[in-house]
Amino acid sequence: MPDQAPGHLIPPLYAPPSARAVYATVPAISRGRFHAEPESATRTCYQRDRDRIIHSAAFRRLKHKTQVFVQHEGDYYRTRLTHSLEVAQIARSLARVLALDEDLAEALALAHDLGHTPFGHAGEDALSAVTADFGGFDHNAHGLRLVTKLEHRYAEFDGLNLTWETLEGLVKHNGPLHPPLAGPIRSFDARWNLDLAHWSSLEAQIASLADDIAYVNHDIDDGLRAELFSIADLEGAPLAGPHVRAIRARFGTIELGRFIGELVRVLMSVMVDDLLAETRRRISAAHPAAAADVRGQGGGLVAFSPAVAGDVAAIKRFLFAHMYRHPRVMVPVNRAKGVISDLFAAFSADPAKMPPDWAAACGAPGDSTTGGVVRDYIAGMTDRYALAEYRRVTGREIEL
Ligand code: MG
Repeated sequence: MPDQAPGHLIPPLYAPPSARAVYATVPAISRGRFHAEPESATRTCYQRDRDRIIHSAAFRRLKHKTQVFVQHEGDYYRTRLTHSLEVAQIARSLARVLALDEDLAEALALAHDLGHTPFGHAGEDALSAVTADFGGFDHNAHGLRLVTKLEHRYAEFDGLNLTWETLEGLVKHNGPLHPPLAGPIRSFDARWNLDLAHWSSLEAQIASLADDIAYVNHDIDDGLRAELFSIADLEGAPLAGPHVRAIRARFGTIELGRFIGELVRVLMSVMVDDLLAETRRRISAAHPAAAADVRGQGGGLVAFSPAVAGDVAAIKRFLFAHMYRHPRVMVPVNRAKGVISDLFAAFSADPAKMPPDWAAACGAPGDSTTGGVVRDYIAGMTDRYALAEYRRVTGREIEL
């Protein structure tokens, strides 16, 4: 018997707010869904949106889509799925502290990357280039097309029939949109006004900045593990540098995983605490009395302070130079561009090479209807499915 029981009491430093903030989005006064449906007796409309997103095919496919490293690089790095889960964790935490609708923030975080192509931004660039004649490709607009059209889960309508607030948040999480609008956004907005000239909810603004907090931190983690940069490089970097030096001073040389853990937890706290302080400051200056007042503001209310925003921009530049432009990242994704353009050419010339339900939606080979179907088929692929399709359709082997 140990003479002292293990376990330490947790002092009650924090209690979550018990009441919803007046400027939170309120499920009971949602603008509803495009198609009439009975609502759930046990879940709010935003819980239901979140659940529909988790059960979607597009969400499952995030498992094998490139975040930074192409999927075959190693099982240890982030994929779009694990990235999205980390964004959702941060968004939920922020929403709870600010007494906002946690379910809406979580739904938006989980859905924010649904529209991405295989092979990350290189894949998107390649797909945009080959579809320039019929609208091009934009992942944000494609995310809307997925949840309003391409998901076929219900007998009576296409898409997931998400609430207006979730659709609005998906489309405008980075702020108001002005013409020229991407095709899917323009056409959906004509059917159901998404109030594009105005800001979205605080929950959507939170999901957007949770994305930044998540990726800056997990890219530092993945970049260090992959040895794209070193702890010494990071020591001179903005935002992270002072904390790198403090951890070294306190713990000396420690195992890399522990070092990363200590660094990321302090960086996340710095970013989250700053975001909460600045957001509270902006909310108290604007004093919105309802969620509708958030939309009418001239700017976003969820933000980092100017000092931390500058540091975040600088660490993003560091990651860009040391990681996203590193040959170990760039060479495979650039090869993958050829996979996308070759697949597009092959399916456009012979739509019957696609599965029957996709082929049936096509027009004549090479026309714009066919081009749109092929674009949507390719955009939905995972990295490894795209490579398998490349081998099947072209008969050629490819190593990324
Ligand atoms: Mg993201």
